[in-house]
Amino acid sequence: MSTLDDFRLETRDWLKQNCPPSMQTRMVSGEDLGGGRKRMGTKPDAYVWLERMAEKGWTAPTWPKAYGGADLVKDEFLVLLEELQAINARPPLGGMGMTMIGPTLLEYGTDDQKQRHLPAIARGEIAWCQGYSEPGAGSDLASLQTKAEDKGDFYLVNGSKIWTSAMHADWMFCLVRTDPQAPKHEGISFLLFSMDSPGVTIKPILLLNGHSPFCQTFFDNVEVPKIDLVHKVNQGWTVAKRLLQHERSGLASLASADTAGPLQRIKPSVSLAELAKHYSNTKENANKIDDAVLRDEIIRNEMLKKAYTLTQARTVAESEINTPGAATSIFKYVEAGYVKEQLEIQNRIRGTQAFGWEGDMFTEEEISMCRLNLEAKSISIAGGSNEIQLNIIAKRVLGLPD
Ligand SMILES: Cc1cc2nc3c(=O)[nH]c(=O)nc-3n(C[C@H](O)[C@H](O)[C@H](O)COP(=O)(O)OP(=O)(O)OC[C@H]3O[C@@H](n4cnc5c(N)ncnc54)[C@H](O)[C@@H]3O)c2cc1C
Repeated sequence: MSTLDDFRLETRDWLKQNCPPSMQTRMVSGEDLGGGRKRMGTKPDAYVWLERMAEKGWTAPTWPKAYGGADLVKDEFLVLLEELQAINARPPLGGMGMTMIGPTLLEYGTDDQKQRHLPAIARGEIAWCQGYSEPGAGSDLASLQTKAEDKGDFYLVNGSKIWTSAMHADWMFCLVRTDPQAPKHEGISFLLFSMDSPGVTIKPILLLNGHSPFCQTFFDNVEVPKIDLVHKVNQGWTVAKRLLQHERSGLASLASADTAGPLQRIKPSVSLAELAKHYSNTKENANKIDDAVLRDEIIRNEMLKKAYTLTQARTVAESEINTPGAATSIFKYVEAGYVKEQLEIQNRIRGTQAFGWEGDMFTEEEISMCRLNLEAKSISIAGGSNEIQLNIIAKRVLGLPD
C-alpha cells in the first residue's frame, strides 16, 4: 500500500475517533465557528473539535509545523479534505486569520511577525478583522484616507473604516495612507494592530438578517509599533491585493472542506426536489414535482452546482497550495450567482412560509432560511462587488484592454 493510502486510513481513523458527531452537521444562520478571545462558538463541541485539530496541526494543514501547521504536502492535504467532506465535518476554525491574513503573512511577514501571529491564529486564539473599506473607498479602495504618520518607533493612525467585523475581533489588518503626495496606489501601507489599542472605538451596524458582527471602526491617535508594518512602507497595495485573492478563494470555498461555506449553508435539510414535493405537490407520495417550470429551474440550478463544484475540485487539484490567482474572481462571481438563484428557488417553493421571521407558524428551518436569504443579498457585494470581479476577470484573466 502506498504511503498516501496509509495516510488516508490513518486520517479516517483519527477523524472517526476525534470529530464529535455534532461537528458533522452543516452550520445554520447565526452559528459561529468560534475562535478568538471575544467570540463564543454556539456549540461546546466546537471547542473540543478546534483543540483536537489544532493539536494535530490540521487547522492550518499546509502551514509549516513551526507556525502551528502540519506541513502536509498537496496530496495529503487533498486526502484530508476528502475525508473531512466524507463525514460532513465542519471546519474546526474559520475567519480572516486562517483564510486571509495567515497565508498573507506566510508570504510577506517577517520571521518575528510569523512567530508572533501564525501559531495564535492556528490555535484559534486570536480573531482578525479586515480594515480595508472606508465610507468613501469601497470598490475604489485605493482612495482610502485613513492616515498613518511616522513617529519614529511607531505610526500614529487616524481615520475610520466601515464594514469591519470588529465586534468579535482581537486584531485588525489595516490599510493606511502613509504618503498623501504619492500616486494613490503607491502611498499605502499595511499595518497590524490590536483592537484593544487605546484610541480604537467601534459602532455596530445592524444587518438585514437581524444580527451582525459588523461595525464602523474609528481610530483616534492609535499608536502602532513599527514591528507590525507588513512588507515595506508605501508598498502595502501589493500585500493588499494578494490578501484579496486569498479572501476570494476563501469566499468561494476553494481552500477547504467547508461545511460552513455558502454552498453548504443554503442547503435545505432535504434536496430541493423533495422540498418542492413537500411544499407544492398536491398529491402525496408523487415521485415527480407537479410544477414543470419549477422542475426545470431546479434541474438547471443543480447542473450549475455540479459544474461549479467539479471545476472547483479540478482547480484545487491543479493549483499550488496557497497560491490562488486572479481566476479566484471567477469562482466568487459564479458562486454568488448560484447562491442567490438557489435561495430564490427555495423562496418560490416555500411560498409565504419562506418569510417567517419568528413565531410558532414557522419551523426552525424556515426562520433560519429566511434570515440567511436576507444575509445572502450581500454575497455579490462583500469581498468586492460582482462588477469589480468582472473587471478583474476581463483584465487579469482574459487580458482585455482597459
Ligand atoms: C456583508 C459585507 C461584509 C463586508 N466585510 C468587509 C470587511 O470585513 N472589511 C472591509 O474592509 N470591507 C468589507 N465590506 C465592504 C465591501 O468590500 C464593499 O462594500 C465593496 O467593496 C463595495 O464597496 P461599496 O460598498 O463602497 O460600493 P461602491 O464601491 O460605492 O459601489 C457601488 C456600486 O457601483 C459599482 N461599481 C463601483 N465601481 C465600479 C467599476 N469600476 N466598474 C463597474 N461597477 C462599479 C459596484 O459594483 C456597486 O454595484 C463588506 C461588505 C458587506 C456587504
